[in-house]
Amino acid sequence: MDTIVSLAKRRGIIFQSSEIYGGLNGFFDYGPLGAEIKRNIRSAWWNDMVHRRDDIVGIETSIIMHPRVWEASGHVEGFTDPMVDCKVSKQRYRADQLFFAEAIVTPEDATDGKPTSEGSVFTYPDLYPSTPETIGYVSALETDDITGELHRRAQELKRKRGARGTLAPLVVKDITEARAEEIPLIPSPATGEAGSLTPPRAFNLMFQTHVGALRDESAVAYLRPETAQGMFVDFKSVVDTGRVKLPFGIAQIGKSFRNEITPRNYIFRSREFEQMEMEYFIHPDADWFACHEEWLNWCQDWLVSIGIPREQLSLFEHPKEKLAFYSRRTVDIMFRYPFGVQELWGIAARSDYDLKQHAKFSGKPLEIFDEATKSKFVPHVIEPAVGVDRILLAVLCSAYYEDEIEGEKRSVLRFHPRIAPYKVAVFPLLKNKPPLVERAQTLYKALKRKYNVFYDESGAIGRRYRRQDEIGTPWCVTIDFDTIEKDGTFTLRDRDSLRQERMTEAGLFAMLDERLG
Ligand code: ATP
Repeated sequence: MDTIVSLAKRRGIIFQSSEIYGGLNGFFDYGPLGAEIKRNIRSAWWNDMVHRRDDIVGIETSIIMHPRVWEASGHVEGFTDPMVDCKVSKQRYRADQLFFAEAIVTPEDATDGKPTSEGSVFTYPDLYPSTPETIGYVSALETDDITGELHRRAQELKRKRGARGTLAPLVVKDITEARAEEIPLIPSPATGEAGSLTPPRAFNLMFQTHVGALRDESAVAYLRPETAQGMFVDFKSVVDTGRVKLPFGIAQIGKSFRNEITPRNYIFRSREFEQMEMEYFIHPDADWFACHEEWLNWCQDWLVSIGIPREQLSLFEHPKEKLAFYSRRTVDIMFRYPFGVQELWGIAARSDYDLKQHAKFSGKPLEIFDEATKSKFVPHVIEPAVGVDRILLAVLCSAYYEDEIEGEKRSVLRFHPRIAPYKVAVFPLLKNKPPLVERAQTLYKALKRKYNVFYDESGAIGRRYRRQDEIGTPWCVTIDFDTIEKDGTFTLRDRDSLRQERMTEAGLFAMLDERLG
């Protein structure tokens, strides 16, 4: 991950927000290249989701909405994460990301605490009926191999205590599962000492503000924690004005804010981020499962279409017993980030809950009138919800590549052409030959009317190619003497295959149209 972070900084993709003031945890800025990449992700999604489909319309709703919206949606009451404080270090942790285990030694056990082939979770005392002894507790923040990490810490504890015997297999739990009497025994990850952690308590993730001059309770409002509620609240306006017919979707791209307890993993979990969400409304009797599957496939195919390798994606089906009561099914598309396999895109079948809640709280019916049966009903909804920043991070991790050309190390960002910040770089072979420079400038200006294009005349051609590889430009054009003296063709060099071919201006425009469309 460190490679990606420093690469993103060096190349002007992502900066820490307010860096000259020491930064602000959980907030990021996008530099000249990052802003282009992000914009390209947004427009690829909007084009494919809204413009190229007949059944989806796009809207933009305000970030601050009527506070009742968040009462109806359940966010005021329940948009919380469990939080634990360390009273000594003043650090805060998300309780479901803080894991612990009791370290128990038994006089004899061949596994010495390592997970066996049947798995790592065993219940003492069934397996260890002899005379076991608790030597203490170990804790660690979530990692890809939390059992391994806690096992290492338990071994270390055993060594420090000089305990004899073998470690029993660890029963790994997160701190929300700790018994009250266990909390004082669990060490804080900050100090390594027990006794300073508080019991978990609910922390609401919404940022509060006040609207207008008064600062009292009546003026409290929230920065939206998701864009989705905008689509439900504007449902009636879209139906009344948008000439939409079921099934149809309402899409939106916009900023969301969550006061995350522990913003982590760079832009993966930040406090201000951008979402691309779509609510797809279907008839209550429609085959919701088939529709959910369709969207699951659409979203995966779309990620692959912008250059994310399919083999880095996987699915996580939320267990039925953990779903909200109104939810029928939620499946997350997961991506293998350098810090582990994590949620990229959530696809939820949310029934008619949201529309019914807003109808109840606003007193305005949110229904569809069916001409055929002359009846009214509340449609159900399938919701694919994704974060732009999480896609950008996945794109960046997938694109970074190092190889060697003629004994020289080359670092490349293999962005898909639709996502690449610059589409083409134009070079005159030599900068001191005015006819070459003139022709290169003319082509550069013609291309620039349609695409983001780079012009470079300094240094050897090989070095200019390398510079473009580093920022992920898919194609470079070199104007040489043949261009001006012979047939007008130039050299087109491909970033990935390194192939060079002669090409005409019309040929170049046609290729770009096809590859970037
Ligand atoms: P997580 O479990 O990771 O907190 P979530 O399930 O709460 O995510 P949703 O409420 O379903 O996320 O939001 C939809 C999408 O918005 C997520 O799949 C993710 O891509 C993005 N997202 C959510 N929270 C953040 C965040 N703090 N920073 C960046 N992107 C986020």
